[in-house]
Amino acid sequence: KPVIVAIDGPSGTGKSSTSKAVAAQLGLSYLDTGAQYRAITWWMVSNGIDIEDPTAIAAVAAKPEIISGTDPANPTISVDGTDVAGPIRTQEVTSKVSAVSAVPEVRARITELQRTLATSAEYGIVVEGRDIGTTVLPDADLKIFLTASAEARAARRSGELKGADVNATREALIKRDAADSSRKTSPLAKADDAVEVDTTALTLPQVIECVVTLVEE
Ligand code: C5P
Repeated sequence: KPVIVAIDGPSGTGKSSTSKAVAAQLGLSYLDTGAQYRAITWWMVSNGIDIEDPTAIAAVAAKPEIISGTDPANPTISVDGTDVAGPIRTQEVTSKVSAVSAVPEVRARITELQRTLATSAEYGIVVEGRDIGTTVLPDADLKIFLTASAEARAARRSGELKGADVNATREALIKRDAADSSRKTSPLAKADDAVEVDTTALTLPQVIECVVTLVEE
């Protein structure tokens, strides 16, 4: 039976690096659900949709065709046939994604894509996000909730963004996590049956080993 692993947590906890490595090591597929929310946000911005207007967002939520490639060695994301792996990481998309992903019609749409991909993975899948264990895949075989101190998360993010100001990055992260945690539909949350792993004092290889061990148990 294919194994389904849900990995949730705020940004900067090492979720993506961990999820990709665990999937690769165990021969599973990999899905970055944050990339899907970023992709629909990119489409909204590109099409001039007012991000402050949930009704306008809801009205067009079904329009873009979002396709995720689930090979952990080469995860891809496209919108209406255009590769958007680069554009979805801009500061503009990052600052707007929480507002777009709070719209229930957007979540319903993306959640359906996620369930389809998860149930069709031949050997199983590692799905990373904010609401995977609680809402998208409540029957996952293993649920992990990654945490880390705000300092550690900001330091990791600024390292990734090369040269970015740590304080500004920290403020932006805290703001996005607060928005993601307080929205009404499927907020960022730990499932009751999730294993919490605090990565503050751990290296990436240690976190990967910890999760692989939990999957194999
Ligand atoms: O993981 P990443 O930082 O790329 O996620 C970008 C944004 O997508 C999050 O800040 C959140 O607003 C949204 N998201 C979500 N639910 C998920 C994954 C991401 O709302 N399962």
